Amino acid sequence: MFQHRDHMGIENGHLTIGGVDAVALAEKFGTPLYVTDESRIRANYRRFKGAFPDADIYYAAKANYNLAILNILALEGAGADVFSDGELFCALKAEISPDKILFNGNSKTDAELEMAVREGIRVSVDSLDELQTLLKIAEVQRTEVEIAFRVNPDVSPKTHPKIATGLKTSKFGIPHAEVISVYKEALALRNIKPVGIHCHIGSQILDVAPFADATRKMMELVDQVNRIGVELKFVDLGGGLGVPYKPGEKAPSPSELADAILPVFEECTKSLGIAPKLILEPGRYIVADSTILLARVNTVKRAYKNFVGIDAGFNLLLRPVMYDAYHNIVIANKADQSPSDTYSVVGPICESGDVLASDRRLPKVEKGDLIAILDVGAYGFSMSSQYNGRPRCAETLVCDGRAKIIRKSESYDDLLRRQVIPSRLK
Ligand SMILES: *Cc1c(COP(=O)(O)O)cnc(C)c1O
Repeated sequence: MFQHRDHMGIENGHLTIGGVDAVALAEKFGTPLYVTDESRIRANYRRFKGAFPDADIYYAAKANYNLAILNILALEGAGADVFSDGELFCALKAEISPDKILFNGNSKTDAELEMAVREGIRVSVDSLDELQTLLKIAEVQRTEVEIAFRVNPDVSPKTHPKIATGLKTSKFGIPHAEVISVYKEALALRNIKPVGIHCHIGSQILDVAPFADATRKMMELVDQVNRIGVELKFVDLGGGLGVPYKPGEKAPSPSELADAILPVFEECTKSLGIAPKLILEPGRYIVADSTILLARVNTVKRAYKNFVGIDAGFNLLLRPVMYDAYHNIVIANKADQSPSDTYSVVGPICESGDVLASDRRLPKVEKGDLIAILDVGAYGFSMSSQYNGRPRCAETLVCDGRAKIIRKSESYDDLLRRQVIPSRLK
């Protein structure tokens, strides 16, 4: 059950995370509750960085931009890939070094670009149209902006279609065939300095072959842009390394990823006599398995199936509904008991799609039991909502056997916050 998850265990029949009893956490802080193990984030980061000692690691903030988590990664020396002004704001708040942040996005507002330029953040430009907007902003601010272009390398990452971002039909990036002409255009602009090249082929990728493919395509482009006089300071190959969610599922390790891409990268840069920095942008790999979501069983119903109704739904964990994602389920207060029946774990949201886990073999489940949903650190809380009038739950961080709140649970007031009733309705 806990393959690869050495920060989790069972003590006295209870699930533990970071050495802390999950049942005690739920009693102390209430449910639903996100629980993150700090040491696991640090270990994941160090394992990744260890596989790429010469590269800069720009953590993809969208996976989980809780400030405490960004702080941990800032302390570890990570940079950040940000996809909005809000993520940039959070990354700067966490004191991630501005020269290690890349502002990405396929549809940035002028205000977002102005903020990036004002803060001296490099921009990954997604279209010629955006280049023109950025040029005007740089002229107004009388500054030079360093950019990369986001390239669409046209590779299939063999993942869920909603998270394949490098297919030629994807909304992201500049088509492979137009890349050289956009660099030529940028070279001619006074306030724009092309210094990087960027791609990101998708997420939850469980095979290194697409990464090697993308690297080869990118390095061909590096050769070509180098030839037209672009002095590349960095080559950013994006994120996307998958993690094993399902029992028995295998994911490549960072060092396997390194073996697949570093030789291609190094051979090319050596033969060109250039030394751009390699940048990688892992999100999921760093945080996914660091976190569990604890939820209380409200009701068990025997109908067409056995339904376990819990107090968390897709308002707090969208991945099962959005991507048909699989998350391991553990009955945290019966963690040492053998499965005895088949259950579907469902949330309280008024949508028949609000199913978090289908047809799982679990020990006998009863009202009051505590369900732990594993590996929810990436694209978990960061995709949460208040749908159905449900305030968001708290987040906690476990370190050295102690748990601290890193986000308080919302109240009813938070449901009303910033709403304004026109006076004629009062
Ligand atoms: C989402 C994203 C990432 C991170 O992807 P993971 O699968 O979480 O590693 C990296 N770079 C860009 C540009 C992204 O959009």
